[in-house]
Amino acid sequence: MNRLAYLRASSLEEAKQALALPGSIALAGGTTVVDLAKLGAMKPDLLVDIGGLAGLDAVRVDAGRLHIGALARMADVSRNADVLRLAPAIAESIERAASGQIRNMATIGGNILQRTRCAYFRDASTYAACNRRTPGSGCAAIGGVTPNHAILGATDACMATYPGDLAIVLAALDATVHTDMRDVALVDLFAEAGSGRETVLADDEIITAVSVAADAGAARSSYLKLRDRQSYEFAAVSVALAVDLTGNGPQIRVAVGGVATKPWRLPSVEAVLRAGPPTRARIAEAAATAAGDARSTPDNHFKIRLLTRTLERALLTALDLS
Ligand SMILES: Cc1cc2nc3c(=O)[nH]c(=O)nc-3n(C[C@H](O)[C@H](O)[C@H](O)COP(=O)(O)OP(=O)(O)OC[C@H]3O[C@@H](n4cnc5c(N)ncnc54)[C@H](O)[C@@H]3O)c2cc1C
Repeated sequence: MNRLAYLRASSLEEAKQALALPGSIALAGGTTVVDLAKLGAMKPDLLVDIGGLAGLDAVRVDAGRLHIGALARMADVSRNADVLRLAPAIAESIERAASGQIRNMATIGGNILQRTRCAYFRDASTYAACNRRTPGSGCAAIGGVTPNHAILGATDACMATYPGDLAIVLAALDATVHTDMRDVALVDLFAEAGSGRETVLADDEIITAVSVAADAGAARSSYLKLRDRQSYEFAAVSVALAVDLTGNGPQIRVAVGGVATKPWRLPSVEAVLRAGPPTRARIAEAAATAAGDARSTPDNHFKIRLLTRTLERALLTALDLS
């Protein structure tokens, strides 16, 4: 049995002091942390419960930006009127994530920072080699069973897929992550696969909120998630779009999930879409570039075609061409 201490932090300062201690970890809704601690994939000495910190659970609109507090519950955010009006894909992605019970417990900060579902990472008692769990130990997934693993961003050190839904939408919306120390672009939050770090955050850094511009693209945002079954399942592939039709030509931002080691923007696709009117042919040409940098195994090779086809379908639907 692992001995585990628990501290309910009553202020940000108290939480930070505790998080600076070796072996400590923040606990928000606990739906990832408790799961992984039980599996032995995470071995914290001290759980620092930040769930009671005041003022971090609000959703507000300020200076043209939609701000969502890090401790706001997923269920509350998915039903929030400002979220539904200003960035509907945020609500869509949350509605398609996990289960009602988990969404009632889980927070926005915790959702963004959830850990990979790679079986080799989660099963610590069978697989000692995992660079995410123990940096430098190797990667048991290489040469293993990998239908759910990443085709984008995979390296020789790690090919685990980023599993979350919300962060894919936030990547497409150019979201900013606000911490108690600084602001970071969502797409810059996550470290390279196998680098030995999950994110660029310091051990005692606390996410306080995430924000997106309440612009035309966000108002016309969408999220398409394909998975092995219709509910309670992670994405096999997902596509988040922000489509701004107010200018001369459409400005379309694209991010994908279920196929990459972290939330993945597709600038090559966006560039093809910017080059002229969004005809069916241009959409097909754009989607065909999506997997240009893909690196696949025999098990996950199917994701290349699945990504291309799903992206094409999402674009056709968003542009009323389907
Ligand atoms: C069965 C199951 C199915 C699921 N299906 C989906 C799915 O389909 N799609 C999906 O997106 N997710 C899914 N999830 C994941 C779930 O959404 C996450 O577990 C949840 O969002 C995590 O939020 P939490 O508040 O419980 O985080 P916690 O477990 O409390 O924390 C998660 C991580 O974030 C850190 N952390 C939390 N808050 C902060 C903060 N403010 N600042 C700094 N660090 C922080 C913690 O230290 C920890 O490392 C599923 C989970 C389960 C168990």
